Amino acid sequence: MTTAERKHLDAVASLGCIVCHREGLGHAPAEIHHLKRNPETGVKLGMSQRASHFHVIPLCPTHHRAGGFGVAYHAWPRQFEANYGTETELWAEVQRRVEVAA
Ligand SMILES: [Zn+2]
Ligand SMILES: [Zn+2]
Repeated sequence: MTTAERKHLDAVASLGCIVCHREGLGHAPAEIHHLKRNPETGVKLGMSQRASHFHVIPLCPTHHRAGGFGVAYHAWPRQFEANYGTETELWAEVQRRVEVAA
């Protein structure tokens, strides 16, 4: 991991859960979620293309994996995106917030 990637991951994690912010739930300590698709090109990540440490969003444990159907991303990605916005939308908001904070 490069220094730039490490700095970006720290900045993203320190934002707190992006879904909690959007839902008006305030700041929640977050885990890093790597996107399934490159938000800039739409190419699926993970198979041939390694997930970039810049293509990440902060999610609290509940919204990441523990919250169950319709709440946790990893429980059911499509329902999560229907409820809270797509990965790409959330990622775009994370980029804006990191820039403001920098
Ligand atoms: Zn959350
Ligand atoms: Zn994840």
